[in-house]
Amino acid sequence: MSEAARSKPTAIPGGLMLMPCKPGVCQECARDHTPDNPHDAQSMYYQYKFYAQHHRWPTWKDAIAHCSEEIRTLWEQALRERGAWTEPEPAKKTVTPKKRKKAGATKR
Ligand SMILES: [Zn+2]
Repeated sequence: MSEAARSKPTAIPGGLMLMPCKPGVCQECARDHTPDNPHDAQSMYYQYKFYAQHHRWPTWKDAIAHCSEEIRTLWEQALRERGAWTEPEPAKKTVTPKKRKKAGATKR
């Protein structure tokens, strides 16, 4: 893998570019954690990168999704105890949370 490919900025909505984070840290959230540990859902880097990929803001459920079931259970429990647990809104709701701009009818 080339250095250039890894350090490519990520395009995020609003015409902004997310500059790559420094090497040696998690490339998803720019925090120094081992791959089996959760991403930092509070990290601005993680939030923007996630938004660019999924078109919604990340939740703690997303941040721990790659972890083992044991770690996910521990983190969910700990976060729930602090009242900090977040997860994606169920899709069945027709009322959408307030958005800055309406989604255009763009194809592709
Ligand atoms: Zn991470």
